[in-house]
Parts: sequence; structure tokens; C-alpha cells
Amino acid sequence: MFRRSAARCRRLKLWLTVITAVLALAAVASSLLAYTYQRRIMEASRYNTTFDFGQTAAELMRLQLALEESRGEGSIEEVRFRYAILVNRLSIVTINRVDPKSAQGKVLGSLQREVLALAPLIAQLPDPTMLTLTIDQLRPFVGPVLRLAGQAHSQASNEIQSNQNWLIVIFAAICCVTLSLVLFGAGLMVVVLRQNAHLDRIVRTDWLTGIANRFAFSHALRQGEGEDQTMILLDVDHFKTLNDTFGHAAGDKLLIELSQRLRWACGDAAMIARIGGDEFAVLYRGSDAEARSIACCERILEQVRSPFDIEDRQVRSHVTLGLSSGGAGLHQGTCLFKHADIALYEAKAAGRNRFVVFRPEMNQHLGRRQALQNGMREAIARGEFFLLFQPIVDLSTGLTCGFEALLRWQHHELGLISPVEFIPVAEESGQIAMVGLWVIEEACRQAARFPTETFVAVNVSADQLVDPLLVQHTTASLARHGLEPERLEIEITESTLIENDERALAVLHALRAMGCRISLDDFGTGYASLSYLRRFPFDKIKIDQSFLRSRSHREEGIAIIAGTCDLARRLNLTIVAEGVETEEHRQIVASAGSHQGQGYLFDRPLSPEASLARIEAEARRTSARPKPEREQGPAEALMAMI
Ligand code: C2E
Ligand code: CA
Ligand code: CA
Repeated sequence: MFRRSAARCRRLKLWLTVITAVLALAAVASSLLAYTYQRRIMEASRYNTTFDFGQTAAELMRLQLALEESRGEGSIEEVRFRYAILVNRLSIVTINRVDPKSAQGKVLGSLQREVLALAPLIAQLPDPTMLTLTIDQLRPFVGPVLRLAGQAHSQASNEIQSNQNWLIVIFAAICCVTLSLVLFGAGLMVVVLRQNAHLDRIVRTDWLTGIANRFAFSHALRQGEGEDQTMILLDVDHFKTLNDTFGHAAGDKLLIELSQRLRWACGDAAMIARIGGDEFAVLYRGSDAEARSIACCERILEQVRSPFDIEDRQVRSHVTLGLSSGGAGLHQGTCLFKHADIALYEAKAAGRNRFVVFRPEMNQHLGRRQALQNGMREAIARGEFFLLFQPIVDLSTGLTCGFEALLRWQHHELGLISPVEFIPVAEESGQIAMVGLWVIEEACRQAARFPTETFVAVNVSADQLVDPLLVQHTTASLARHGLEPERLEIEITESTLIENDERALAVLHALRAMGCRISLDDFGTGYASLSYLRRFPFDKIKIDQSFLRSRSHREEGIAIIAGTCDLARRLNLTIVAEGVETEEHRQIVASAGSHQGQGYLFDRPLSPEASLARIEAEARRTSARPKPEREQGPAEALMAMI
């Protein structure tokens, strides 16, 4: 549609340009023509042959008169003088002004010849015979020369008249051409201006959603630097996962629908823009900008609560928002962007699906983040990382069947840091592979101290799965600490698989072929749980703790847990319920069919020593610790049946 109208506009512009150019050429040509005719008129009036012929006739008559008078008292000298003038005049007229082949040229030519032939007669004057002879010879020429003068006069006025007529026509043509030139020129200007305005709109508009783009937003921010402004930075939660799961067309549709919802939610904003793939920005201006934008953030969160209708599917998606305000001042725009970004990061770290208003102390958080990023390599060398082990309990016996290794960082300056804070920093800065290798090595080292039937699960991030050293390093760590591969579990989330896809699957297959177990962590929080269960033969799934924790959707959560357990049983997968905090939780997950449980009810993450003590205490309680039946993977279960 846009291309067609652009092509039409281009064609119109081309035509108008050609016509205007032709008209301009015509205007120049007709002006030159007018100049030529004007010169002709001037020349016709300046070098009038009428004058020449009239003068010739007058000189001829004066010579005749002088000849007549010389019969009486007239002087011969006067005759000779008049004769010389006539000869001179004739030579001027015949040489310069008259075509010798024309009728006038012929008359004047024969007069000139006759006059020149009179020279010997004039020399014999005042001989009366010569005088009479001279007068008689000149007489026949008087009439024709007078007629020539009359004719030349009318011819000259005819020429002037005709040239003037042509000049009128040419001037009329010039008027028409000029008028057309003005009209077409104006048309061309209108088209060019419209095209420029159109291009300007394109440059400032996001091609997908039709709202403003980053360029327009930055421009608006700069323009408003003289007044109070507030900007909201919005990011779609897990957009990449959604995009990879449902395809890019679905991702695009979500962005389009989201931009429409933003229009409703931010009707009073100065600008709404899409400034990146899944990043939007909203600008508010005025003294109450911050209050209005906070209200807007609430409306946005409300708007995205209802699912998006995409390709006959109801897709739930959330957004996270960062908000920053700034008073009038130079570089306000740059600061607003930076601060909104920091606030957005804080909102993401706080669990997404919320908005956070920037506060100056958040700058310190940024500094902290940078300190974490810069200190990670050193932290390994200094021995600042350590693992805690959270028990995973067999729900049928209540005994510990394994542990999840959870990483901690005892920073030499910042104190104890949660993985929730530093794992994303490690992932963003590309250091997770290095940290992950340390975790596997340490988990194997500690697991070797536990009883042989106890497994240890480690969390593996997406980027680790594409690390070519992972399989090699894991094999080496297992061998180094004499750990059976079956005792090492690799926990991955759905997004890990979605993001890395084929390469990640290949690495997982390699790890599984070695004997390691693979479990799907945080099950139910992504989009593609079921499809990924088909794509990879997992040994275990861990139902995310959010289903137990949600108070508002308690019944829904319980139903999902029950459904997931049912599905996992059919697929012969071991099920772990996460976040078991209370006895009620334990009962819910146990009756739903979960085999194992993990949560504060059983224990918080423990030091390796405390973990060992726990196992030993359990062993003391039960003289013979039964091997947890459900801990068997599908392959083992099959073998047992045989
Ligand atoms: P996760 O894999 O889902 O780990 C479970 C988290 O839930 C742990 O938090 C654990 O302390 C917490 N938790 C366990 N039981 C309960 C409970 O009953 N109630 C509540 N409210 N929470 C419970 P933690 O240790 O802070 O770890 C957070 C996340 O950090 C982990 O989530 C995991 O995604 C990541 N993480 C931890 N260690 C590593 C690691 O070595 N490598 C990678 N890549 N990620 C790690
Ligand atoms: Ca985990
Ligand atoms: Ca988990």
C-alpha cells in the first residue's frame, strides 16, 4: 500500500519535473525569440532604407536643380559638389543597403552606372551642350528613384508592423508559459513538500506498530529539555521466549496489540514510542508529569493483565517498567534514559511485572552491579564462591534423596550476595560459563562426601550449554572426585532450551549419554513446557514454587500441580514439587502425586557439613534407609520391571 502510493508520488514528481523543465526551456526560447523580433524592429527603424532612397532622390533633384541653375547664374562648382554627393550616396546605398538583384537594386545600379558615366560630361561644363545632355540623361531616373523612396517607406512600416504582430504573439506565449511554469512549479513544490513530510513521518515512525520510534522519542526528549519530563521505559517480560516459542509473526502481533493497549493506557502522554525490539517508552511533560506517569504505569499493568489474542491463542504476557523524572536542564534526556533503564533493571530484579520509580541510590546499585561484574573472576581465585545444598526429600519416606546445589558469593566488600542478583550479571557479562564450571567441580567434590545413593543437582544456565568445554569438564570433574554420573543432575529451565535449541539439545544428549540425569526446572513458568517434554527425554521435572505460593489463585495452582503430576507419571518422569513451606503444601503435592519435595518445610539451603549431618541424623533414625523408588529414571524403571 505504502509502496504503491510512494511509486505514484515518484511518477507524479517525475512528470511535474519534466513539464516544468520543458516549460522553463520554452520560456527561455520565447524570450530569445522576443528579443530577436525586438532587435529587428529596432533595426528596421534605425537603418531605414526609406531614408537612403529619399536622400538619393533629394540629391538627384538637387543636382538637377544645380544643373538648371548653372544655365543662368548658377555656379558650376555647385554642380560638381552635388554630383560628388550623389556619387557618394549611390555608392553607400548600393554597397551596403540594397540587394543588387532586387528591383530597387537594379534601378539604383543603372542610376549609379549612368551617373558615373556622366563624369566626362560634368568635366566639360559649363559647355551648354554638355549641360543639356547631362540634364536629359538624368531626367528619366527622377521618377523611379522617387517611387523607390515611397515604396521603401511602406515596406519598412510593413516590416515593423509584422514584427510587432509577432512580438505580441510571442509575449502572449511567454505569458502562458510563465503562468504554466508558476502553476507546475507550485505543483512540484507541493509534491516535494508532501513527499518530504511523508519521509519525515517514516523516519519518525516505527514500521511495525505505527507509533513513534526511537529517533522521534530522543528528539522529543531533547526538545523538552527546558521543562519537567518523566519517561517510562517498558520491557516485555520473556519476549524472546515467546518469540521463539510461537514464532516471529506471533511476536510481532503481540507487539502490535501491546502498542494499542499502550495507546489506551497512555492517552494523556506526550509521546508513546517503540524504541527497540520489545522495548517501549512513554513520555510525560509538565509539573505533574511524574504523578500522571505513575498512574499510567498502573493502567499499563492493568491493561496487560488480560491475555493477548494471537493466532487463535490466548497468550499471557507481562511487562516491566522503569520510570524516571527530571527537571529542566541540559542533557536531561540522556539522564532520563539512563535512570529509566536503571529503574527498569531494578524492577526486573524485583521479579518483573511491576514498575519501579528511579531513586538516586539506584545509581549505587548500578555501581554494585559493575563491581560484581568486574570482581567475578577474582572471586573464584579468592575462594569467595561457595555452595549450599538444599535437601530434596522423598515424599513417601520423608528422607533426603538428594540436594540441590545453590551458589552463594561471599564478596570481600559487599558481603553475602544472592544468586538472584549475581547470576544475571554473570549471564549478561558472559562469565556464567566460567562460574558454571566452578559450580560443577565443587558440586562433584562435595557430593563425593555424601552417601552413594544421594544425588546432587546443579543449575545450568543457557549460555553454559553452548560451552564446548561443559561435557569435557563435567566428565573430568566426575572422574576426579570418583562420582557416579547418575548422581549428578543437571537442572535447566525451558528458556535454556528455547534459546539454544539444537546445540543445547546436543550437549544435553551428550551429558545424558554419560549417565547424568537431566531435570526440567521451574516447570510451568514458560510457554512451551509440553512441547519440550516431547523434544528431550527428561528424567525429572520440578514444578515451580509459584503454584504453591500463589494465594490469589490457590485452587488454580493446585489443579495445575495435579495435572502436571498426572502428565509426568504418564511420561514416567520423576516429579519434584518446589517451594514446600508448610505441612499443607506437603499434603497438597503428595496427594497430587509428586514423588519428591523441596522447600523450607524440610530445610533451607545448608552448608555441606550441615547437609552431611542431616543425612547422618536421618540414617541414625532409620537403621536401614530405603532407596527411594521414584528416584529411578525411566530407563531404570523399565529395567526393574524386566
Ligand atoms: P532455583 O533453581 O529455582 O532454586 C530454588 C530457589 O528457591 C533457591 O533460591 C532456594 O533457596 C529457593 N527456595 C527453596 N525452597 C524454597 C521455599 O520453600 N520457599 C521459597 N520462597 N524459596 C525456596 P536461591 O538459592 O536464592 O536461588 C535462586 C536461583 O538462583 C535458583 O533458582 C537458580 O535459578 C539460581 N541459581 C542458584 N545457584 C545457581 C547456579 O549455581 N547456577 C545457576 N546458573 N543458577 C543458580
Ligand atoms: Ca533449580
Ligand atoms: Ca526451581
